[in-house]
Amino acid sequence: MKATEQLRQWVKQSNRIVFFGGAGVSTESNIPDFRSQDGLYKQKYPYPPEMILSYSFFMLHPDIFYQFYRDKMLYLSAQPNQAHVQLAKWEEEGKLLGVITQNIDGLHQKAGSKNVIELHGSVWRNHCMQCRRPYRVNFILEAEGVPKCTACGGLIKPDVVLYEESLRTEDLQKAGELIGKAEVLLVGGTSLAVYPAAGLLQQYTGDHLVLINQGETPLDHKANLRIHGKIGEVLAQVGA
Ligand code: NAD
Repeated sequence: MKATEQLRQWVKQSNRIVFFGGAGVSTESNIPDFRSQDGLYKQKYPYPPEMILSYSFFMLHPDIFYQFYRDKMLYLSAQPNQAHVQLAKWEEEGKLLGVITQNIDGLHQKAGSKNVIELHGSVWRNHCMQCRRPYRVNFILEAEGVPKCTACGGLIKPDVVLYEESLRTEDLQKAGELIGKAEVLLVGGTSLAVYPAAGLLQQYTGDHLVLINQGETPLDHKANLRIHGKIGEVLAQVGA
């Protein structure tokens, strides 16, 4: 049986689907991922992106950080693609329990998904590091240079998890619980290279682990079903 046909059957029979995804879910919305051929890590900057996106770099050179961040991390007008839309539809139909994402773009919510765990935070939320006052993303976009708190002058930081920072324990716990409840675990558009997010898959004990990715991943051998392809196209085909 063709892999997409097998997936269609599993999806049809289940009302405990959980989705776990990464940057590849948003490439069809024209947001580049990190590690693909045209990904962010293949481009040239005076500093490697992993360094710019680290907490210590942010604290030392917030000016360079924000230049890079505004230029390469904010895609505020991006629209959900077929993957986001199909997942939201399955949740609405009571088939999908929730989405766990490593993405920071908010596209699952834009598509209508309600139960979304954002392991790496979101560009849509920002706060003053000193007085915790929240700021909208437009404030970041429009500020000249480094955005500073209008109340106390503190440095404003996006609520995204930078390298060297820990993921929120609460999010990791919720994600682990969700995966523990999954009958069908769909994993897509992630290189499964970033821990501890990728380690969450170990909490799945079922036998319907589906990996949908354009490239290979280090966990391919664990999958019960492996689909090479664009996730938006694949999910649209499965949901049709
Ligand atoms: P990654 O760049 O390491 O891997 C992306 C994977 O998706 C690759 O294996 C690639 O082959 C695959 N892929 C690309 N387009 C695809 C498509 N259309 N269909 C199926 N597969 C596709 O990304 P990652 O694993 O998510 O981890 C990197 C980090 O990137 C995360 O921490 C995340 O926070 C951050 N990030 C987020 C965004 C975003 O919010 N949209 C964008 C870039 C990076």
